[in-house]
Amino acid sequence: MFSIKEQKKTKQSIQSLNDVEYPLMEDFYTIQGEGAHTGRAAYFIRFAGCDVQCWWCDVKDSWDESKHPKVKTGDIVQRAVESGTDLAVITGGEPLLHNLEPVTIRLREEGFQVHIETSGSSPLSGHLDWITLSPKRFKKPLDEVFPYVDELKVVVLKNKDLEWAEENAAKCPPNTTLLLQPEWETPSSIKLIVEYVKKNPKWGISLQTHKFINVP
Ligand code: SF4
Repeated sequence: MFSIKEQKKTKQSIQSLNDVEYPLMEDFYTIQGEGAHTGRAAYFIRFAGCDVQCWWCDVKDSWDESKHPKVKTGDIVQRAVESGTDLAVITGGEPLLHNLEPVTIRLREEGFQVHIETSGSSPLSGHLDWITLSPKRFKKPLDEVFPYVDELKVVVLKNKDLEWAEENAAKCPPNTTLLLQPEWETPSSIKLIVEYVKKNPKWGISLQTHKFINVP
């Protein structure tokens, strides 16, 4: 868990947190399709802006934050509360381009567990119960992120991605969940991963199950 020092909050400060705006590409209630929490109902909050720019990215529309509206924290949190789940997943884009303190404080106050999916290219911020690091060689994770990683999820297209996965795993805490995920448009990666995991059972496989069951 990563948590910056929490400040004393008054009613006024809650209002001021609610007024903080983020560039929002989309927010929606769905099923977490990837990683250790696969299958859980979750409210996804996808912030816009990404400085990593993977060529195989499936959310390229998120890259330019100026194309997306700025939405108040209070409105996002209200919609998350109305969904009925207690799990919020902050993703992007690269969500750590933004200071996550206001939105994570408000989500926690409403009883949410707050998860994040990040490339680790910017410093951690906010109050986070579960950190999924998905490192990208296009912009490497900051070293300061690794001690807080709960789950390492590496997208694999070819052999050299397995070396990249090991390089990152060596920097994570010993109890980190280690997952390899095939790139959806590269079916050959599945065989590669299956063979690798059988030989190196400290790793598991993460599948984008939401794509199999056709949920967003
Ligand atoms: S870090 Fe994520 S959002 Fe950014 S380009 Fe890569 S896959 Fe896309």
